[in-house]
Amino acid sequence: LCSRSDEVRLAEEASRKYGSPAPTIFSKVIDRSIPADIIYEDEKCLAFRDISPQAPVHFLVIPRVPIPRISAARDDDAELLGHLLVVAKNVAKQESLHEGYRVVINDGKHGAQSVYHLHIHVLGGRQMNWPPG
Ligand code: C5P
Repeated sequence: LCSRSDEVRLAEEASRKYGSPAPTIFSKVIDRSIPADIIYEDEKCLAFRDISPQAPVHFLVIPRVPIPRISAARDDDAELLGHLLVVAKNVAKQESLHEGYRVVINDGKHGAQSVYHLHIHVLGGRQMNWPPG
């Protein structure tokens, strides 16, 4: 879907926009150098199952371009950010989450972000509680 040269171009674009973000484990998911259970992909993003699921269904939606965190996104990323949400709800439907689900983005230290490549968590298949911990 995305050639090696496309990946290089995306990384260059990201370093111009977001200031040379350090590569993360998710770059390796994108370039297939580590295995992941990918359940959806297109030219802008992919969705894969979280390796440490916190619910019966727990997947992540990530952009191919390595935006480090939601707070580093630019206003002109609006279309991409919207696309990620559309994909999140479409994959949730594909995963039969008809009773609802939780959508989460963790940002930075207080948000308990651990991987600095923007990702949307989608959790479902059980009752969620509020407030989160
Ligand atoms: O939002 P936060 O940065 O804490 O979430 C990172 C998520 O990425 C975790 O839920 C972790 O289980 C997941 N992960 C993964 N595959 C990896 C490394 C981390 O699904 N190879």
